[in-house]
Amino acid sequence: MRILVVEDEPTLASQLSAALEENGYAVDVAGNGRDAHHLGDNEPYDAVVLDLGLPEIDGITVLKRWRAASRNMPVLILTARSNWHEKVEGIDAGADDYLAKPFRMEELLARLRALLRRASGLASAEIRCGDVMLDTRNGRVTVAGQAVSLTAHEFKVLAYLMHHQRSVVSRTELTEHIYAQDFDRDSNTVEVFIGRLRKKLPPGMIETVRGLGYRLTAPA
Ligand code: CA
Repeated sequence: MRILVVEDEPTLASQLSAALEENGYAVDVAGNGRDAHHLGDNEPYDAVVLDLGLPEIDGITVLKRWRAASRNMPVLILTARSNWHEKVEGIDAGADDYLAKPFRMEELLARLRALLRRASGLASAEIRCGDVMLDTRNGRVTVAGQAVSLTAHEFKVLAYLMHHQRSVVSRTELTEHIYAQDFDRDSNTVEVFIGRLRKKLPPGMIETVRGLGYRLTAPA
């Protein structure tokens, strides 16, 4: 899952990006409203963490522009604690949730997980597909109750497929959601990750849909 972090305070921006990367997300960072607007308009983010007080274009304006252009990814806004009308304005502008600064990173991560699973129509923090279970709270993956160890990239691929289970996901789509923007992307490596995942999951779970991509389903 790929997240855009929009934050102009460099220390907080790097703390956010480090925490998100550590939790298995691909992360892009924008430090002003203009870059944020451009990235959110052009890249397929699974969610955005958006500070409202930004140089160049403020966060509310960025959010309104995305929503006006039908960019519907979940957006969590960061507001000043005392500023209740900022929260109201942000939610009315299309934010899905908010967090007042200063906040605990654990709370931000939990709210983000909730937004991501709701966007995928999932209710529980434990995502299941047949015998495979991904606990989004700690990144643990089990098959029939047995822990499975995955590399960071294998985890990113599986997490995306689990959030989009039963849908066909193309190689391009997977590539766009497992790498940050500055990463040297090669869609052929997706095939390698899929190959390795297949060896770690029950047989037949990752189906190849010829010419279209992959589909994660529980074998009957
Ligand atoms: Ca700010």
